[in-house]
Amino acid sequence: MTTSTTRTELGAQTLWRQDRDHFIHPFTDYSTFHEQGCDLITDSDGIYVQDAHGNRFIDGIAGLWCVNVGHGRAEIGQAMADQATRMAYFSTFNNLSNAPAAELAAKLAELAPAHLNHVFYSCGGSAANDATIRLVHYYFNRLGKPSKKRIISRNNAYHGTTYMAATLTGIASNNWEFDTLDHLVTHLSEANCYRRPEGMSEAEYCDHLVAEFEETVERIGADNIAAFIAEPIMGAGGVLVAPEGYHARMQAVCRANDILFIADEVVTGFGRLGHFFASEKVFDTQPDIINCAKGLSSGYAPLGATLISDELFEVLGTPQGKGGVLSTGFTYSGHPVSCAAALKNIEIIEREDICKNVREVGPYLEERLKTLSHHATVGDVRGSHFMMCLENVADKATKELLPVDARVGDRVAFEAQQRGLIIRPVGHLNIVSPPLIWTRETVDRVVDILDEAFAATTESLR
Ligand code: PLP
Repeated sequence: MTTSTTRTELGAQTLWRQDRDHFIHPFTDYSTFHEQGCDLITDSDGIYVQDAHGNRFIDGIAGLWCVNVGHGRAEIGQAMADQATRMAYFSTFNNLSNAPAAELAAKLAELAPAHLNHVFYSCGGSAANDATIRLVHYYFNRLGKPSKKRIISRNNAYHGTTYMAATLTGIASNNWEFDTLDHLVTHLSEANCYRRPEGMSEAEYCDHLVAEFEETVERIGADNIAAFIAEPIMGAGGVLVAPEGYHARMQAVCRANDILFIADEVVTGFGRLGHFFASEKVFDTQPDIINCAKGLSSGYAPLGATLISDELFEVLGTPQGKGGVLSTGFTYSGHPVSCAAALKNIEIIEREDICKNVREVGPYLEERLKTLSHHATVGDVRGSHFMMCLENVADKATKELLPVDARVGDRVAFEAQQRGLIIRPVGHLNIVSPPLIWTRETVDRVVDILDEAFAATTESLR
């Protein structure tokens, strides 16, 4: 980052006016937006980003859980530029293809659990989940089981905001005043160890959650259920780590009832938990489908992918009859520039053994963040490796929350940003999900900043 690339104050004012007057931001509180303004992030490098005023921050959220290899990787930019000048775009419909899309599909099949050998491309996580549900419905229709339609999701899950993905999402406030396709989705309880029923051990809590799933299958009927979808660790819903053995047991219920098991690895994929995919290596599951996006290209270009088992593909890849085609897909399915970015991104993750860095530095991040528990508002510090969260409460004994208008998560994030660190506020939570290249030294700096930020927050709440 050089000062010559830093926007002038005048330029920043113009950009703010253009933004304010014309850009509808996702997930933004419009009751405060116009008066608060927004931060224009203009430059980035490694673990840092810089705003239009020239302020530099440690990126504690990897953009939005996605810049896994860090910012400013010139070789990804070069790979994209080379592909864009050689052949920026052409259709992948009707037997057409392009080299990066084919090469990436083979690479994903190599990295994924052994039985997932087929890739359906989309442009991001929501679209990947949406496309998946369409394919799952189509699969059961083709098998002559058209009543198998319902998808089992979980409260507080986040699966995106296209119509179907928003319906799968279980964060109630996300769908306030929006419509959803409720006839297609049923939500189970989330696995929230911190707020599990009083007096229940983690093992009993796991039994309780699995029993809820079994009862739901019994009530709705396995003949009406197509799939169960879950994030290996629930992300936006509060970085909730399920009790030991939960995912494997939920998968067993699926297997016993001819229900497909879908892992949404949009956040956990590509190294965040120390492996390319967490399902098999961390949670001992073999999903029928894994969805990914974000870290797949480290956010350098929009890309999502649905990784599909051989068994499913046998059905999906058989024409319905003469002239029948698999009639689903996007103009940008297998976009060559996005796929070129993903290939280079994966090459970097492998070459620098970034998963190993996460396995080494991740436990240190967990341990150091836990030292912040002495602050008055920090009720829980949880997560795994580079996917962490601090839950703020009013009272640690009762776990009672602070009033919503105390905006505690925003306060902590504000205090951290004043000190040069961006973390993510989600209601009363603060999420830390950094680029996967943080070192122990970075962790020490971050924890020092957070220590001050929580102290200042406690002071401001007095
Ligand atoms: N699935 C999960 C687990 C996510 O965390 C997200 C986004 O944060 C999505 C899906 C949606 O992805 P996108 O915003 O790329 O549509």
